[in-house]
Amino acid sequence: MKKIEFCGQSLQSDDAFARLGAHFSVQVQPRPLPSPRLVAASPQAAALLGWPQDVLDQPGFLALVAGETAFEGVPARAMVYAGHQFGGYTPQLGDGRGQLLAQLRNQKGELWDLHLKGAGITPFSRDGDGCAVLRSSIREFIASEHLAALGIATTRALAVVDSDMPVRRELTETAATLLRLARTHVRFGHFEYFYYTRQYKQLHQLMDYVLEQHYPQCRTADNPLQAMFAAISERTAELLAGWQAYGFCHGVMNTDNMSILGETLDYGPFAFLERYQPGYVCNSSDIGGRYAFDRQVEMAEWNLTALGQTFTGRVGLEPLRQTLEKFYPAYRKYYLQRMRARLGLQGAENGDEALIERLLKILQGAELDYNRFFRQLSDAESVEQLLPLAGFCVVPADLQKWLQDWWQRAMPAGRDNAQRQQVMQAVNPLYVLRNSLIQDAIEAAHRQDYAPVRQLHEAMSQPFVAQPGFELYAQPTAPERQGWPLSCSS
Ligand code: AMP
Ligand code: MG
Repeated sequence: MKKIEFCGQSLQSDDAFARLGAHFSVQVQPRPLPSPRLVAASPQAAALLGWPQDVLDQPGFLALVAGETAFEGVPARAMVYAGHQFGGYTPQLGDGRGQLLAQLRNQKGELWDLHLKGAGITPFSRDGDGCAVLRSSIREFIASEHLAALGIATTRALAVVDSDMPVRRELTETAATLLRLARTHVRFGHFEYFYYTRQYKQLHQLMDYVLEQHYPQCRTADNPLQAMFAAISERTAELLAGWQAYGFCHGVMNTDNMSILGETLDYGPFAFLERYQPGYVCNSSDIGGRYAFDRQVEMAEWNLTALGQTFTGRVGLEPLRQTLEKFYPAYRKYYLQRMRARLGLQGAENGDEALIERLLKILQGAELDYNRFFRQLSDAESVEQLLPLAGFCVVPADLQKWLQDWWQRAMPAGRDNAQRQQVMQAVNPLYVLRNSLIQDAIEAAHRQDYAPVRQLHEAMSQPFVAQPGFELYAQPTAPERQGWPLSCSS
């Protein structure tokens, strides 16, 4: 543990990952961005570190995010990992453009990684340029803060910085950086790297590190690593329930993008469903639809199986299999919890699952916005008020009947409608992060007008509460702008 001074704050640096040694990460140095400009910063994320808002306004903070200065006496590091990408194994990946600037302990003793994405070339850059473009940095910045607000586990984002440096993608864009916060950046792919290179000593060192730092509650189990694998699986199930309940498509669920803590990690061509289209593929590079919305749960299970393989030296096959068998039931349990909450159902009744399934069938093919529908249910003064929505369905009578059944279940005798509205509004966002909204903010940012990014970030960080001036964010996407094609390029 080392004390460092930064923007008037006294910070505790704990380079726990660096101490694992040279097999795990190498020392690197960020490349400074020319003429850096702060696009936006997140006070909510800063609060996780115990930093007051004014830190974000200081030149020293901009210099850090721009890669101009490092934390004093704490060298940046790039981690090595591997991963299954679209089902095929890539033996070595690693931080090709991200750098771990520091690990800090906040006043609660929590360890936080500060990771600068777009920080330049590292030994793991392969043919890449080490850059992140403004577009994808803004997308991750707003999306991670939005998912956090929805109560879905995710890495966080402190700030985005823009520059004048041109970067070649499909078109020429500008280089940017994103300062990401996470309790850890250890991915499933870290374990795979050491397993498939037969560096078993290092593999076990990594397992013990993750156990010690992130799953201390598993240390007292008969087989702590077995317990840890079960805990990782459980957290992943909970994560997927959040994604599926809110219509979030990740787009690139490769094992190198799967956090060992079950957090949403590495935002790329993600999308929120507009209409309920279960087979939706948000990533235009995903030709086979491997990561289609309705395959995400299965793919998470596939990824856990790949991770489980790396535990076979220290956990028996049978317990690993049994853990994997519990994944789907755990997912269903969390999904039901989420959907009951979204529908304002109190307690648990046998018919709830059928009610949810019926709704999803009806919404499929309906010209209704998925997330907005839940907000409409939340706001309703009466069931009659909702009946016109049936006109947007293939068989209007089906939704009418469903609405009556739902109302009966959600409004038992004696329940106050205002109370139902309130609890439902607290879990059903008024503002949903649609790609068209981000796109408009990005276009303004390309003209160096960052106000729309900041405003969108503000709305999406508090998506349940109506705020004057934000009406636009509550609107469904115009049909001609739905299904925006997004590629992996970032
Ligand atoms: P991603 O698709 O962002 O999850 O990245 C997959 C791998 O490619 C990771 O090892 C990244 O570090 C690396 N990578 C992605 N983009 C770049 C880039 N522009 N320069 C260097 N490495 C990159
Ligand atoms: Mg990645």
